[in-house]
Amino acid sequence: MESIEKRLAHIKDEIRTAALACGRDPETIDLVAVSKKKSSAAVTSAIQAGVTLLGENYIQEAMDKINTIGNTPASWHFIGHLQSNKAKFAVPYFDLIHTVDSFKLAREINKQAAKINKRQAILMQVNIADEATKSGTTAASALALAREIAPLEHIHLTGLMGMPPFFDDPEGARPYFKAMANLFNTIQKEEIPGVDLEHLSMGMSGDFKVAIEEGSTLVRIGTAIFGSRE
Ligand SMILES: *Cc1c(COP(=O)(O)O)cnc(C)c1O
Repeated sequence: MESIEKRLAHIKDEIRTAALACGRDPETIDLVAVSKKKSSAAVTSAIQAGVTLLGENYIQEAMDKINTIGNTPASWHFIGHLQSNKAKFAVPYFDLIHTVDSFKLAREINKQAAKINKRQAILMQVNIADEATKSGTTAASALALAREIAPLEHIHLTGLMGMPPFFDDPEGARPYFKAMANLFNTIQKEEIPGVDLEHLSMGMSGDFKVAIEEGSTLVRIGTAIFGSRE
């Protein structure tokens, strides 16, 4: 098996190539290395190889890992489903929470962030294909939710996150990435005070090139960097 370092270099190269091929500046796309179910040692290797953003899905696992690894130059992103009663753990540990999908959760994050005097950056997760198995607000209610979240002083809504249905051929995901980008533009144009949409989090190991072509600014890649998860 190739080293994390080699795979990381390869992915960065592919991100760059995909960006340039569609006329985008590669610097506008950031890579979140998704380390769920991977060891602290694997994460440390990734950081040494130059990873600066790490994505985790499970609060307890993430806290254990972050505590084990200690201070790192890397920034941690929460990308899993977050229950309101876990917000108190997520807020002190994560620089960006990708998965806010209800006002109830936003309000709880706001409350916890206030306690530590933090303005928590978040993304709103949109269930762009209305799948029963996925979290996220509906596309139809996304703008209303953004307006509802905007006045919360300890929350900073900075973008959208979405996950299309799985397709063997990543082309199948394209219409959903397009719909995410349209929604992003629609909400951005509203210029809601306190809301600054800059991140569009979409694209994983199997479909990040298509996501980049459709405007992704944050790709979340696990398997292609760390290998398959058992
Ligand atoms: C696991 C996960 C990823 C990474 O998926 P890969 O296919 O391993 O690249 C990205 N985003 C979310 C929300 C995930 O849960």
